[in-house]
Amino acid sequence: MSKCGTCTACCEVFEIKELSKPVNTLCSNCTGEGCGIHGKHPDECKQFECEFIRGGWKNELLRPDKSGVIISWDAINKRFQAIQFKDKIKQAILDQINFIRQQGVEIVEVNSKNLA
Ligand code: SF4
Ligand code: SF4
Repeated sequence: MSKCGTCTACCEVFEIKELSKPVNTLCSNCTGEGCGIHGKHPDECKQFECEFIRGGWKNELLRPDKSGVIISWDAINKRFQAIQFKDKIKQAILDQINFIRQQGVEIVEVNSKNLA
């Protein structure tokens, strides 16, 4: 099973309404290696799992802090969304995006700079 390890990408990239935390701003509760209020963190945080975690991807290069892209499942629209948050991204994540597309699953790019 994949683990977040020292990744804190979702704690920076997403808005957390309960904390009035805007997008692309590191949460003030983030220690740099994890959540400083773990256990008391908002439901929004508890409910989020990126696809690296949800899918149990074995390739560590697909972990968002390493790949530069957060891929997550949009259950309402039944598709993935990919958010590129670093200028330089790993080829491994582009390969994964292409793999998902080859399975016939839609993947929508958000804030894309140079995703394939
Ligand atoms: S982006 Fe994914 S791997 Fe990184 S901290 Fe969030 S859930 Fe964990
Ligand atoms: S409260 Fe914790 S889990 Fe939620 S965004 Fe902040 S650091 Fe991340």
